[in-house]
Amino acid sequence: MRDDVYPVTGTHIWYYFICKRELWLMMHSIAPDQEDENIDIGRFLHDYYSKRGKEEVDIGSGKIDRIKKVGNELVVQEIKKTSRFKESSYFQLLFYLEQLKQMGIKAKGELLFTEEKTKEQVELTDENREKLLEAVKDIQTYAKLPVPPSPKKIKFCNRCAYRDYCWAGED
Ligand code: SF4
Repeated sequence: MRDDVYPVTGTHIWYYFICKRELWLMMHSIAPDQEDENIDIGRFLHDYYSKRGKEEVDIGSGKIDRIKKVGNELVVQEIKKTSRFKESSYFQLLFYLEQLKQMGIKAKGELLFTEEKTKEQVELTDENREKLLEAVKDIQTYAKLPVPPSPKKIKFCNRCAYRDYCWAGED
C-alpha cells in the first residue's frame, strides 16, 4: 500500500462505520462477489434514481446523490434505502459537507430513507466534524495495514458480498 496520504472517499467513510475489514478489502481492490444479490440492490437503487432524473454529482471524493437550492441555501441529499446503517449514512453525508466546505461551499445536509419515507437534517458542527476528521485519519491508518483486520460477526455479515470470503465453511 502507498506511503503517502490515502485519498479517502465517501464510500470509505460508509464502510468504516460498518466493518473495518470490509473497508480494508475494498481499499485493497479485493472485489466482492459480483453475483451477490446485495450488489444488485445497490445497482437497482442507483438506476432507479438516475432514471428519475436524480443524477449524482461528482465532487471528486465521492458522488452526492442530489444537490438542491432552498432559498439562499444549498442542500445536499443522500438517499438510502433504510436507516439501518444510519451512523454510516450520517458520517458519509458529513464528509461531503466537509468536502464542500473545503471548496468554499457552505451547505446543509438531508438524509432520505426511501423505504421508511423519512428525512433527517444534518449539519456540520465543530463536534461532529472532529469525529469525522478522526475517522478520516483512522481510515488512512487502515489503508497502510499489510493484512485485513480479522472478521467479526456483525448483523451486516449476512448481507455482505464478502461473506463467503470471511465465513466460508462456518455457516
Ligand atoms: S462478511 Fe462481515 S466481517 Fe466480513 S467483510 Fe462483510 S461485514 Fe465484514
